[in-house]
Amino acid sequence: MLTGAGVSAPSGIPTFRGDEGLWRRHRAEDLATPEGFARDPRLVWEWYDWRRGLIAAAEPNAAHHVLARWQRRFQRCTIATQNVDGLHERAGADVLRLHGSIWRVACHRRCASSPRDWEDHRVPIEPLPPSCPYCGGLLRPAVVWFGEPLDTDVFAQAYEAAASCEVFLIIGTSAQVQPAASLWEHARRAGAFVIEINPTRTVASDDVDVSIQADAAHALASIDAALDAAADA
Ligand code: ZN
Repeated sequence: MLTGAGVSAPSGIPTFRGDEGLWRRHRAEDLATPEGFARDPRLVWEWYDWRRGLIAAAEPNAAHHVLARWQRRFQRCTIATQNVDGLHERAGADVLRLHGSIWRVACHRRCASSPRDWEDHRVPIEPLPPSCPYCGGLLRPAVVWFGEPLDTDVFAQAYEAAASCEVFLIIGTSAQVQPAASLWEHARRAGAFVIEINPTRTVASDDVDVSIQADAAHALASIDAALDAAADA
């Protein structure tokens, strides 16, 4: 399955492209690109610090819990997520983080003595912008910004899982951001049954086998209850 911001929305984490989405009020070019960071690292860090505070105060919702349970219940249940918030992991799931983690940082200039990236759970971060403990230069969030490539190993694992799955779920994402969106198209070509769960129609809606227009937490809780009932029958 591929999950996006809609899975965390019931936890109070704002989405990006919905009606109330962050990209309606903020410019992605300023806040989520290498160029924006080069122009104003403090502004970018204020935005990430604000989001870290929101996420730290939030809890995983029914959608995260159901998916974590399915991963224990079904064999080879892969969750690839576009979310950087870590809520899947807090619910006990093991996920492929396509866009990195808001709870990891890296040296902006990747100085020789620093690891590739590392955990950082400070909330709030002071002072802003934070500096690299290895070289004193700027730290950056270890997330994938617009214009940056995904981690090849992580994407290869997601692609492999998509190629060999029987059922592919697209949950809470407008399925627009490439190359993540190509995962379900790949799964469909390989013969998978594709189910979409999203509150509104998306570019994928006409091409999937089933499109469920609903909030992720409600839809997944209902499907989970139906699976339990079928197992008991
Ligand atoms: Zn450094």
